[in-house]
This record gives sequence, structure tokens and C-alpha cells, in this order.
Amino acid sequence: MANPIRVQVKPNYVKQFKSGYPLINKEAIKNSEALKQEGTIIDLFDEKNQFIAKGYYGKQNKGRGWILSHNQKEVIDQSFFDKKIKVAVEARRPFYEDQNTTAFRVFNGEGDGIGGLTIDCYEDGYYVLTWYSEGIYSFKEEIIHSLSKAVDYKGIYEKKRFDTKGTYIEDDDFVTGERANFPLIVKENGIRFAVYLNDGAMVGVFLDQRDVRKTIRDKYAKGKNVLNTFSYTGAFSVAAALGGATKTTSVDLANRSKAKTIEQFSVNQLDYEAQSIIVEDVFHYFKYAVRKNLTFDMVILDPPSFARSKKHTFSAGKDYPELLKQAIHITEKNGIIVASSNCSTFGMAKFKGFIETAFQESGERYKILEEFSLPEDFKTMREFKEGNYLKVVILQKR
Ligand code: SAH
Repeated sequence: MANPIRVQVKPNYVKQFKSGYPLINKEAIKNSEALKQEGTIIDLFDEKNQFIAKGYYGKQNKGRGWILSHNQKEVIDQSFFDKKIKVAVEARRPFYEDQNTTAFRVFNGEGDGIGGLTIDCYEDGYYVLTWYSEGIYSFKEEIIHSLSKAVDYKGIYEKKRFDTKGTYIEDDDFVTGERANFPLIVKENGIRFAVYLNDGAMVGVFLDQRDVRKTIRDKYAKGKNVLNTFSYTGAFSVAAALGGATKTTSVDLANRSKAKTIEQFSVNQLDYEAQSIIVEDVFHYFKYAVRKNLTFDMVILDPPSFARSKKHTFSAGKDYPELLKQAIHITEKNGIIVASSNCSTFGMAKFKGFIETAFQESGERYKILEEFSLPEDFKTMREFKEGNYLKVVILQKR
């Protein structure tokens, strides 16, 4: 590989890189015109020409790349990737050995030492690599080679999310090995999910909510009438039904969500006809529920960070309290609310502030029962708090 190019870090940003912050922000670089081809290895220097760290150039949202090493002599080559991927795979041994959980994250970007790349494992040998920039994608050959040395794979798929917004680029996502037959049925703490690795950006289940689904099933669902909003393929509804919920109602705006939810119930031998699966705007459904005096023992809120429907624009950072208020209104006294957000622009403290505001404005009281952030396989860095984007609070209305 070519020699690294030298990049000067603005004085204000030197300290953060020295203390381990991994994201090379657009604003942090003085001579950004030196950055031309994504995938170039860059050495970061301070104003006194002292080496700070080494990284790669890749455009991802406001980022311009990720730090890979604080050792000036480190060469970013095949053996660098081999090492990182091997260590990550080793750290997931307990997941590989767990017969009841066959879908998990093997490599979580900067948490495992390479920002902009994630690798997920599905059912014994099928892998999905997600590339978050052209920069990291330029190392595809090395990374796939490293993965093939570290694991016995059957087939590899990929998701390209190159553009700076991280949107998915439509493609045949198959890379190498043998193609899987879809749906692939994975297990998660014994819950089954049908996944499709070659059918768009999302595969059918969000692995980061594993612990929350288990907790809902094991501790909260029994005997409850559950409303699951923004339900996607109904994964929370399935967990609740398996945990003994008397009934689940799943609400999602997307047409595809109905058939997908029926499928997830069916692969778990649950009678979907005993459940309600509704294709509708959640905000519309709340109004309907109020009009019909419907109440629930448990309401699950897991909206996207940002969504636009015909009548509504929802932005979690702004509108979450309002969403909560509507949920509080139709939750029984002593009922449970599972409030979740994957929005990376705010942390747990602010999220709890939203909960406080919503209850205050509703004139109701609550008690926090449990909190969750990303599970163990979604490894994060202390120095990069935004990487731990998931916030889930399970609370009780008093
Ligand atoms: N809770 C889900 C994941 C939610 S993904 C799970 O655990 O699997 C976000 C979902 O919100 C998408 O399926 C999208 O179709 C849906 N959505 C976005 N805006 C919506 C709205 N206004 N009303 C209902 N669903 C909406």
C-alpha cells in the first residue's frame, strides 16, 4: 500500500485524538484538500509536527475517516486486518457456542478497532458485512480474506451504505461462498426469526434489541395486553406472545410489515390470527385508541430517529416527549412502557429528561424499572459515547 499522507489536525482537536477519540471529523483537519482518494491511509500530526495517530480517509456523514492506530510504525496491511478480525471473533466465542442464539454481531466498527465496518453472523456461517464508506470498502479484499481465515463461512453478503447519509445502495448483496435459502431461520434466546440477507437494507430483525426482547418475554409479558408501535416485523410482539401476553397489537406504517409480522409469529408456532397486526400511522392509531377507550398493560415505543409520513414528521430528538405522552395516556395504571431510541444525537441522560418531561406534562407518576444500552456483542468505546446509540428504559406508570 502507498505511503500514508500527512494531515494536520487543528489545535483544538489534538487532545481528543490523543485521548483516544476515533472519529476523524471534517472540522478537525486543517489541510483537508490533501484528502483525495477514499481509502488512503493518513497520518495525523499536530502543529508541532508530532505524530498523533493513523487512520483511513472515508466519508461518512460528518466524519472523514477513522483512527486505526496510535503507533506510527503500524502498517495497515493484511496482517493488521487479520489481527483485528481474529480478536473480534474470539471475543464472540460465547455467542458461537450458544445453541439458542444464532444471530449476533461479530465486528462492531470502532468498538473493535475499525470504524465504518460491521459484520453480523446469521445461523451458522452466513455473514453480512456493512460498509459505511467508499474508504473502508476499498479494503474489501483484505477484510474478506481476514474473515475467511478467522471463521468457517458458508456465504457472505454485504450492505453498502456509502453515501454520507448512510442510505443503503440497492444491489445484489451476495459476495461469495454459497447463497443461503431464504428465509433463513435464526434463533435468539430460543425465539425464532425469519431473516432475508439479500432483500434490501434491513434483514428482518434488529440484533441490538436482543436483551430487551428476552427481558420482555421473561419478566414483563405474562398476562399482559401489549401494544407494539413502530413494530416493523413484530419482533417485540413475538417476544411478548412467547412470554404469555394475552394479546399483542402491532402497528407499523409500512405495508410489508403485515406479512413480515405474520411470518415471525408463524415461525414461532404462534397463531397470528389471535393477534392484531395493523398497517397504520402510529399517531393516527393513538387517536383511534383514545376515541375507542382502548388501554394497554404494556406499550412498546421504538420509533426510528427520523420519519416522515403523509401527515407527520417525527424527529426523536424533538418529538419523543410528545410520543411518550400519547403512550402514557393509553397505558393502564401500573402498566409498563418500554421506551426505546436508537438516535445517536442524544444520550441516556437527555432521554430520561424526555421521560420526565412527558410524565410531568401528563400529570402522571412513574418509576424506572430497568435500563438497557447496546448488548455485549455490539462492542463500544468509552472514548466514543455516540457509538453506544441505543437507549431503552422500561418504566412503570404509577
Ligand atoms: N421496533 C422495531 C424496529 C422499528 S424500525 C423492531 O424492534 O424490530 C422503524 C419502523 O417504524 C419501520 O418499520 C417503519 O415502517 C415504521 N414507521 C415509521 N414511521 C411510522 C409511523 N408514523 N407510524 C407507524 N410506523 C412508522
